Amino acid sequence: MIVTYSRNVFIPLTRSCRNKCWYCGFRVENADLMDRDSIKMLLERARGAKEALFTFGERPDQLNPEMKKILRALGYSELLDYVVDMNKLAIALGFLPHTNAGVLEKSELLKLKPFNASLGLMLEQAVELECHSESPGKKPELRIRTIRTAGKLKIPFTTGILVGIGEKEYERAYSLEVIAELHKEFGHIQEVIIQNFKPKKGTKMENFPEPTTEEMLKTVRLARQILPKDVAIQIPPNLVNDIYPFLKAGANDLGGISEVTPDYINPEANWPSIEQIKKALRGEFVLRERLPVYPKFVKLKLFGSAVSELIEVYSDDDGYCRS
Ligand code: SF4
Repeated sequence: MIVTYSRNVFIPLTRSCRNKCWYCGFRVENADLMDRDSIKMLLERARGAKEALFTFGERPDQLNPEMKKILRALGYSELLDYVVDMNKLAIALGFLPHTNAGVLEKSELLKLKPFNASLGLMLEQAVELECHSESPGKKPELRIRTIRTAGKLKIPFTTGILVGIGEKEYERAYSLEVIAELHKEFGHIQEVIIQNFKPKKGTKMENFPEPTTEEMLKTVRLARQILPKDVAIQIPPNLVNDIYPFLKAGANDLGGISEVTPDYINPEANWPSIEQIKKALRGEFVLRERLPVYPKFVKLKLFGSAVSELIEVYSDDDGYCRS
């Protein structure tokens, strides 16, 4: 059985965010934006990786006047225009962007679509939770609407659930059912991340218990039962002790792995090396590098028009990354 991963570079464009999730150790209060030169340097250090993962705080320019000033000084009136230009920079340097910008409207998805191999947004959970009470962008209906709109626009999409943030077991099942229904309607979900909550010092949930390995395995099994077979299940290999039982439980993707950047959301958790991963497969699974757009969508040519030349170069006949 094939297990996939994507060689990536993580670009935390901004840590400013309009939301205040109680478990978040990524967000900063002040306005903050990576400049073009820093992004270029990061990309140049990551040569060989194919995916440029742009993950950042949601709509920081909406509430933070300082952020607006920074953008204006760079000649932009909106954050998303800057993101598009940084997507273009990544493409020029040979990377395939995958952007996770939070809740987006149709016009905003259309703005990003041509310059991205795929887009993403964690659903987290499809129910209202106390830990999201200060996060307007974590309203389930807004996130579901973004995923639905991406489906209507035929954008290959990554989503996922965050496990252990106060939801009940049946609510996890419900969240997975919501994702399954969206995929049945539009066929655009390429992967669902099953991510375990990890407490961060200095956050409101620093003493909140992490989900156990057994709970996580149960959730992966549940996901495999609920999600259509053509949707991959991703387990972050830096957040679990041993990937093998998760692969046996139905996970078949390990997400982005970087040789040059940490997991900025969980900086305490180092990426395993490819050699370590291969060893953990115990000869039962075959590891294959994929692009940030899954083989099925490569074959359907459902990716941004500006990345088509790179995908032509990077993909093999099966739609995986050419070795
Ligand atoms: S988890 Fe994401 S959305 Fe929530 S505060 Fe942190 S950066 Fe913002």
